Amino acid sequence: MTKSIISDMDGVIYRGKQLIPGATEFVDRLLAGDAPFLFLTNNAEQTPLDLKLKLEHLGIKGLTEDNFITSAMATAMFLKNQKERATVYVVGGGGLINELYNVGYSISESNPDYVVVAKSTSFTFEQMKKAVRLIDGGAKFIGTNPDMIDPVEGGNEPAAGTILAAIAAATGKQPYIVGKPNALMMTLATRKLGVHPDNAVMVGDRMDTDIVGGMEAGMTTALVLSGVSTRESIEHFPYKPDHVFNNVGEIDLNAL
Ligand SMILES: [Mg+2]
Repeated sequence: MTKSIISDMDGVIYRGKQLIPGATEFVDRLLAGDAPFLFLTNNAEQTPLDLKLKLEHLGIKGLTEDNFITSAMATAMFLKNQKERATVYVVGGGGLINELYNVGYSISESNPDYVVVAKSTSFTFEQMKKAVRLIDGGAKFIGTNPDMIDPVEGGNEPAAGTILAAIAAATGKQPYIVGKPNALMMTLATRKLGVHPDNAVMVGDRMDTDIVGGMEAGMTTALVLSGVSTRESIEHFPYKPDHVFNNVGEIDLNAL
């Protein structure tokens, strides 16, 4: 029996707006196989529909919105479990705001219960000041994901973790971060697929999120070298992936 695949996207399927070699064939093999699969991304900017459309635009067809879990969805579900009704100040994009609306939360700048921070390409000093003051005033500090950088065409760009670090420095408070490697994300994925972690493989490009999260959840792990982590960097971590591939094109689903 082939194992279920839980795959990251950034640095695995694409890098910015560029498809990674072998990605189309990899998704075709997932679609043709009999094991359930899921894309699990720390990206909180886009909704599952955005991600599906982005992949279609890149030439990857056949996926549905149900094939994606984002850290924005996980954050909204986590908060909903904590507090049925709440107000939130958001630093982040449409994907996150959409998921918070979906669970019945409202967005507010005055006395919100939570300050939720994700990557925002339009992040400003004013937003940072607002977030800092609201957290100083007692709002709970939540991050969608810890990634400091995202791999894009031509190099890396700052991501949610970098913005969280700035707000943490100014408030002296650390955020609670929902995305990978938090077990919440891993559990959400295996539960949605209805598989035991023993029968799942986490495929990702980052040792510090995908691989550690998968390993701690009891999954098989496969690192691809098409994104953030390099072959040399593996040695700097106290844990290692079960498999290493140059890119997802090299993955034989029956051999994991
Ligand atoms: Mg990635």
